[in-house]
Amino acid sequence: MTDDEKWRIGLAAVVEEFAALDEARRSAVVALVHQIMAVKGEIAACFSLVDGAAVCAQCGGECCRAGRYHFTVIDLLAYLVAQQELFTPSFDSGACPFIGGAGCLMEPQFRPYNCVTFVCDRVELEMAPDPRQDFNSLCDRLLTCYLEMEALLANRFRSGLLINCERYLDGKAAMLDAVDRFLPPRELEEK
Ligand code: SF4
Ligand code: SF4
Repeated sequence: MTDDEKWRIGLAAVVEEFAALDEARRSAVVALVHQIMAVKGEIAACFSLVDGAAVCAQCGGECCRAGRYHFTVIDLLAYLVAQQELFTPSFDSGACPFIGGAGCLMEPQFRPYNCVTFVCDRVELEMAPDPRQDFNSLCDRLLTCYLEMEALLANRFRSGLLINCERYLDGKAAMLDAVDRFLPPRELEEK
């Protein structure tokens, strides 16, 4: 199966499972997505403070050559919650499937965890100790939000949407909501 097919199948399953969430968990997911987007916005602002974009523009995006597995189910949830039109990746470009002629196809607050938290040596050199400490604390907060989302839905998302789709196709896990689909009713009652 191609990555394009996995993308389409995974996407459809997440949309369906998100719509089927009970009201309490749906509200919790929406609240977490808002937190995630806010923290990513703060990370982007911190990056701008050291003019990271200028360093990256000069480099041309060396670290964006292998992003195939960076986009996760959690990142897709941000598009669904914000009702933002999703981009079309190109899995046969040889580069990151989520890069276009003008750079990343995602705005900073939608970009995957791996992308927004990574700084190479060149950017790090531009960072004074205080902004670096702020940046690290924001990355920690973001990781906490991602872990909370995994706990809420009893699923693992960090390997990327394509890997989740492989597990889903193998019948090993739901795409999104492993609580209702995979735990026996008795364990659900005890929650
Ligand atoms: S983080 Fe570093 S490697 Fe990545 S695009 Fe920026 S300068 Fe290039
Ligand atoms: S998703 Fe965007 S930021 Fe991340 S590696 Fe791909 S192009 Fe770069």
